[in-house]
Amino acid sequence: MSECLFCRIASGSLPTEFVFEDEHVVAFRDINPAAPVHILVVPRAHIETVADLGSDETGVMSRLTAAANRIAREAGVDAGGYRLIVNCGREGGQTVFHLHMHLLGGRKMPELAA
Ligand code: AMP
Ligand code: ZN
Repeated sequence: MSECLFCRIASGSLPTEFVFEDEHVVAFRDINPAAPVHILVVPRAHIETVADLGSDETGVMSRLTAAANRIAREAGVDAGGYRLIVNCGREGGQTVFHLHMHLLGGRKMPELAA
């Protein structure tokens, strides 16, 4: 069995309610939400970080973005706006080393510090 948390969630071995799934992507609520809507959008394939994506793998991020946009519409946060975040590596704030995109919405996001 894979030791990777998000591989276990994506494969169903760690039962988790999906808000979206297709052949390539699963999405589920963050266990420690930072906003009223906080969804993690995750490729089924194990890719450690966004830094592992080369120019031949642009489809991965397109799929994550398309899924996040669809979930945002379904959650009703598309009109007000939302934030998509990909943390990369330890100093980038990544704690789970399986690529994922955060969808945050439902409140006004602070501007990022310069
Ligand atoms: P990051 O810091 O970008 O790696 O984000 C990892 C996110 O995964 C954090 O926001 C955690 O709250 C979230 N998380 C960790 N374990 C789980 C889990 N079992 N189910 C849902 N979200 C989780
Ligand atoms: Zn994984």
